[in-house]
Amino acid sequence: MSTAGSISKAWCSTKRSDRDASTNPVCGMTIESEQAAAREVWKGQTYYFCSRSCQEKFRAAPDRYAKKAEDRATRNSQTR
Ligand SMILES: [Zn+2]
Repeated sequence: MSTAGSISKAWCSTKRSDRDASTNPVCGMTIESEQAAAREVWKGQTYYFCSRSCQEKFRAAPDRYAKKAEDRATRNSQTR
């Protein structure tokens, strides 16, 4: 019998808070949905923006910005 237990990596599946806030993928600031100046639905996900100009930037390259936001979220959950 081995006593070497498998440590469950709980932090891997830790979900972020259910609060109705989202990170603006363009400038990186956190926007609450009510405060958003603009929003954009892309691939089933709603993104909130602090201003129209941020929204326009996202529209120009949604792929790039959405990926960036994803990377940031992943990194945050790992370091925390
Ligand atoms: Zn912004």
